[in-house]
This record gives sequence, C-alpha cells and structure tokens, in this order.
Amino acid sequence: DTTDLTGLLLSRIRDVPDHPEPGVVFKDITPLLADPAAFTALTDALAEVAGDTGATKVVGLEARGFILGAPVALRAGLGFIPVRKAGKLPGATLSQSYDLEYGSAEIEVHAEDLTAGDRVLVVDDVLATGGTAEASLELIRRAGAEVAGLAVLMELGFLGGRARLEPALAGAPLKAL
Ligand code: AMP
Repeated sequence: DTTDLTGLLLSRIRDVPDHPEPGVVFKDITPLLADPAAFTALTDALAEVAGDTGATKVVGLEARGFILGAPVALRAGLGFIPVRKAGKLPGATLSQSYDLEYGSAEIEVHAEDLTAGDRVLVVDDVLATGGTAEASLELIRRAGAEVAGLAVLMELGFLGGRARLEPALAGAPLKAL
C-alpha cells in the first residue's frame, strides 16, 4: 500500500547536507537505484501514474529523470523522450531557457519526438523550485503536444514548486510519491 511504498522509498533516499553548496540538503537517490526491490516499486508506481493520466509518451529530464523515466516508459508500454541540457542532442531541436538563482539554463528536445496528439508525462526525481519542470512543460506545449502530467519521486514542498507550476500544468496532475 501507499504507506509501505513511501516508507520503502524514504528509507532509500540519502540526505547529503551542504551539497553541492552550503545550505542545500541534497536528496541522493543512488541507494534507491542500487536496491532492485525499491527501484521496481518506484518504477511500478510511476508507471501507474502514466496509465492514470492517459500518457502516450514519457519525457525524462536530464539526468536523473533519464534513470527513472526510461524504465517507467517501458513498464507503461510508452516511448521515452529525453529532454537534455542545451547542446547535447544532435538533431533539430526546440529549446527553452529559464532563470536560475544566478544566471540561466537551457533545455532542449528533438523537435520530431513530440507532435500534436501526444499526451506527455514528465518524470524527474526531485521537484525543487519547479523551474526545470516549468521549462519542460513549455517545451512540450511549444512542440504541439499536450501535458498529461508531472510525476516525481519527491517534492521539496518548502520551495513552493507546486504553486509555481500551477499555470504551466493548467489542470494536469502533479504527482509526488
Ligand atoms: P528545480 O528546477 O529547482 O525544481 O530543480 C530541479 C532539478 O534539480 C531536478 O532535476 C533535481 O534533480 C535537481 N535538484 C534540485 N534540488 C535538489 C536537491 N535538494 N536534491 C537533489 N536534487 C535536486
């Protein structure tokens, strides 16, 4: 059940204080990835979200969204689409820049990977400020596809990402396990 799943997942996430900089508690999911029972439970739960939302494709956000999103896509019987940091994808891309605390960042997707008629579930490990997820949702819409939802392992509620994402989600669900 849900309580067991939450307990299992939490027990496999390591808090690393002051990484990558002072004041940040980094949520390290490598213990979870190293435990096949926990990784399978996570994959199954996220694949269920994909089914519930009627997604037709899964987008993973670089880099841990790739590790989680790919098995979710396979389990749900859907294609996997990587959203990468700028400059990595070799084909024609759509790109979206977004503001960071200091400076800005840019993400890209292969333009041909998303089209009208697609319903896309975005998968990542941690929702923090929501900036990355927000940019990915804009990218999906600009590609002509529909947003089915956003599914993350963990939401850092005190950073307010959920509220920030409300306009970009436009009613699509945000599921944090
Ligand atoms: P944000 O755009 O602020 O929501 O940041 C989300 C991205 O940064 C995700 O791809 C996360 O993997 C990563 N991230 C942000 N904060 C943390 C944290 N405290 N622990 C682990 N990853 C984080």
